[in-house]
Amino acid sequence: MPEGLEAEIYAVAAAQVVGHRIISIDVDERCADPREMASLVGRDIIGIKRHGKRVAIVLDGARLEMYFAMTGRLIVNDVAPITALEYGPVEERNEWDRLVVVTAKGSLRVNDPRRWARFTLDPDWSTLGVDLMADEGDLADALSASRHRKISTKALLLDQGVIAGLGNMLVDEVLFHVDIDPRRPFSSLTEDELTRLGQQISTTVSELGGRGGSHTGTLHPGIRRAHAVCPLDGTPLERVTLAGRTTFFCSQHQR
Ligand SMILES: [Zn+2]
Repeated sequence: MPEGLEAEIYAVAAAQVVGHRIISIDVDERCADPREMASLVGRDIIGIKRHGKRVAIVLDGARLEMYFAMTGRLIVNDVAPITALEYGPVEERNEWDRLVVVTAKGSLRVNDPRRWARFTLDPDWSTLGVDLMADEGDLADALSASRHRKISTKALLLDQGVIAGLGNMLVDEVLFHVDIDPRRPFSSLTEDELTRLGQQISTTVSELGGRGGSHTGTLHPGIRRAHAVCPLDGTPLERVTLAGRTTFFCSQHQR
């Protein structure tokens, strides 16, 4: 599933169809209600909205959320802004198109071999927390408001109701650079650690965003697969499951 950085790449690419009227919509009936989608033909696309990992096409009078799941890819005017997701095939077949939106000035498609993509009209985003690209102060406030919670720091950062858009790779990367053990109860973090955590989220999001996505950090997929050592101190990286997600960290410098 794309993290907030990938959702942002999608939102930027999808903006190419803003300002144009929908001529036709084809949808796989297993991914959305075809009648609901058909009702959107003739409407103008007036914007693209992203919050956290979620992306919606804003129409006059409605919003259409595109959920990409694990293997879905967005293709705008026949160009895929993200060429290969970590678990997705590089191959692309027409029969894997789950949504095809055609406008007078181009098209937007969601291609998903596994058919897990979903398209929802007028989604409820009210439970989402502050966006991962918010400024440092807002991130710090969101963390501070959750400081009583005893769940692991990893689980807290994955909670989309606290900060929306952080996923597995980004969270591991942030904690690696801020020297915090992902297993620590969030309530054990000091005031100083909370402040540094907010700053590090901002820094990591901006750096990895500039490099092209959440897979471009120090703990990139290659390092994770290789069971490598910590590039800072040579300690073998630990691999545990936290909040249901495979988590990598260094027990030497992350405390
Ligand atoms: Zn280390």
